[in-house]
Amino acid sequence: MFFRDCVVCDDRIHVEHYCEMDVYEYVRCKQCGLIYVDQLEKTENIYQAYSGGNLKSLRRRLMAPFRKHHHDRSYKSSVARAKAIFSFSADQVSSVSGKYLDIGCNEGYLLAQGLAVGWDVYGCELVPELTTPFLNSYNECHGNVHQGRFADLYSMFDKNSFDLVTAIDVIEHFEDVIMDLKNIYAILKPGAVFVIQTPDVDCPQAKQLAAEWGALKPLEHIHLFNYSNLEILAKHIGFSSVNGLDRPFEESDGNFAAVLIK
Ligand SMILES: [Zn+2]
Repeated sequence: MFFRDCVVCDDRIHVEHYCEMDVYEYVRCKQCGLIYVDQLEKTENIYQAYSGGNLKSLRRRLMAPFRKHHHDRSYKSSVARAKAIFSFSADQVSSVSGKYLDIGCNEGYLLAQGLAVGWDVYGCELVPELTTPFLNSYNECHGNVHQGRFADLYSMFDKNSFDLVTAIDVIEHFEDVIMDLKNIYAILKPGAVFVIQTPDVDCPQAKQLAAEWGALKPLEHIHLFNYSNLEILAKHIGFSSVNGLDRPFEESDGNFAAVLIK
């Protein structure tokens, strides 16, 4: 029986069964610690897991055209969270402002922070109705916020053009994580900054809860890293430096955050 190759180690020699969830199997690389879904679901089925048919998402879809950003019930806390993440990320960049892409921009709160301090902002989001209230509030961004997977959108962005890219709780969703990281690397300017947050397989919850760990969602979270295997992969792709933060932006189910420099 052969498992899919570990994307960090580029082989399957050290890969073992980790746990089963529904019809999916997570495996673990004993060498680098990566936990990942062995057999990937078809992309269209992964999409369905995001936009789902549940009542909440239906209501959100129907109401989105009428909503503006400040109507969100969690507006204040979302702004505070975005302010903390964006200002930290922008501080890593040598220029005062520039071109900024948020991958998985969700409701656009990070983009709004960038706009507020003069950045030229771009976003990608899988679920279109999530960004509608942001676009209702910031009409000028219509042409810059795109719906879909980064894998399908990256060619719209110029190479060597971004000063800052963020992907907060996103890289674990990438189906072809090597290709997506290579494409992020390609659109960054030399010396530019990529900030991530992603679940941490080395966090206490992951170790204590094992198969019950909340970050194990096989349709959504395909590759689960720790700081050191992400660093290996990022360096392999070409990033010149990788720095872990002392603490993540949000603890959630156990995350780590890192700054990658091209
Ligand atoms: Zn590995």
